[in-house]
Amino acid sequence: MSTPVTPKAPRILVLGGGYVGLYTALRLQSKLRAGEATVTVVEPRSYMTYQPFLPEASAGSLSPRHVVVPLRRVLKKCEIINARVVALDHTARTARLDPIDGPEYDLAYDIVVVALGSVARTLPIPGLADEGVGFKTIEEAIYLRNQILNCLDVAESTDDLARRRRALTFCFVGGGYAGVEALAELEDLARDATKYYKKITPEDLRFVLVEASDRILPEVGPDMGEYTLLQLSERNIDIRLKTRLESCTNGVVTLSDGTTFESDTIVWTAGVKANPALTNFAGLPTDERGKVRCDATLQVTGVEGAWGAGDNAAVPDLANPGKETGPSAQHAVRQAKRLADNIVATLRGGEVKEYRHKYVGSVASLGLHKGVAQVYGIKLKGWPAWFMHRTYHLSRVPTLNRKLRVVTDWTLALFFKREIVSLGSISMPFHEFEAAAGVNTSTGALSTHEAARR
Ligand SMILES: Cc1cc2nc3c(=O)[nH]c(=O)nc-3n(C[C@H](O)[C@H](O)[C@H](O)COP(=O)(O)OP(=O)(O)OC[C@H]3O[C@@H](n4cnc5c(N)ncnc54)[C@H](O)[C@@H]3O)c2cc1C
Repeated sequence: MSTPVTPKAPRILVLGGGYVGLYTALRLQSKLRAGEATVTVVEPRSYMTYQPFLPEASAGSLSPRHVVVPLRRVLKKCEIINARVVALDHTARTARLDPIDGPEYDLAYDIVVVALGSVARTLPIPGLADEGVGFKTIEEAIYLRNQILNCLDVAESTDDLARRRRALTFCFVGGGYAGVEALAELEDLARDATKYYKKITPEDLRFVLVEASDRILPEVGPDMGEYTLLQLSERNIDIRLKTRLESCTNGVVTLSDGTTFESDTIVWTAGVKANPALTNFAGLPTDERGKVRCDATLQVTGVEGAWGAGDNAAVPDLANPGKETGPSAQHAVRQAKRLADNIVATLRGGEVKEYRHKYVGSVASLGLHKGVAQVYGIKLKGWPAWFMHRTYHLSRVPTLNRKLRVVTDWTLALFFKREIVSLGSISMPFHEFEAAAGVNTSTGALSTHEAARR
């Protein structure tokens, strides 16, 4: 496909429509004058995901549609391209895009913002790629909700004790906030759901958390991490510290402490790494972890017309000399605003400013009415921490429309019981029709229709 003609106004190409991408584009569209620049956002999904709400979406406290922000609705003055950037040549100022349909093509730009975030840091553990699932996207959050409820259905409907035990065993690997919040919320959901099953009690559920270091939830500090450990242990969650997953081929989990068990559900949340697409970016320096190197102004170090922020950028932390800003939504949102202001300043020949923010701490939800927090040095646990988690994230979720939808979900949840329907078959929508048409779909394999569409 031929290269589209560069518009007269400079094109600001924002790669990624997550926290940094969305907030940068929002700021640019509100600050730029008409015709001053074109803002183009490249993102494979048509929405930004508010990741801190994924555990609640998974547990059914929030509707999945309310934790994502439709890019075309909020970025009305920007051009949105649903594609993946696969390579970039900053000297030629072109990015190679792989659109959601059709062949790859090159897009010319004048200024680039690198906001591709991170991806799960996996290890070559036997069985992991086939049996594991991450917890970074809304699709994974919905899948896990369906999977856990489906496992309860399986356990209730079989007399095979080994099959039942395997279905009721859920293994989470990685004790940072993504893993701990996901496990805590889903355990809460599963325990709550057992009320509706005749043959399953909460004691039948086995949730295992595997963590290689000697603590969990480092984000909230050592004593709050200790409290979380206690809280989860009291809920019968089997926590294995200083333990690694060694293999999980065919769902047979083997841990480094010698323990072996079978599980249908293996969730991998053991860290993230910079987006691997950056390895194909020519002309932008990266550090040893593959992150794009940036100055405190968020300009890519020594490179004109290139900016970076968020999980895929190595940015000096001026509030903690010698360190870099950590991968968090807190930094991503603030960096995006500074970065956008600096781009506007550059376009107008003004002064750029450095990014400085002292990390205020973290809040984590551990299920309905349970939480842990350390913010501005204040430590909270239980209901107050959970309440702070909700109010903090409500204040942060983008757009008034989303805030109102989230509050409505929470309010409804006060009056109605949690929804416990598993819609696992939603991922195989053609089976019913194909069975009616005489196609053999009994094996559980992908139907021809589904295989063709993937
Ligand atoms: C479950 C969970 C809970 C969290 N809770 C908290 C919390 O409570 N507090 C906190 O501060 N932080 C939290 N975080 C971390 C926070 O969400 C991230 O630090 C933040 O999202 C980083 O923003 P980003 O813009 O760098 O990356 P992202 O928000 O991940 O955005 C990157 C975007 O790039 C897109 N992309 C990827 N590859 C390509 C490509 N090749 N081409 C084009 N686009 C691409 C992705 O689809 C994505 O939309 C949590 C994370 C998770 C997973």
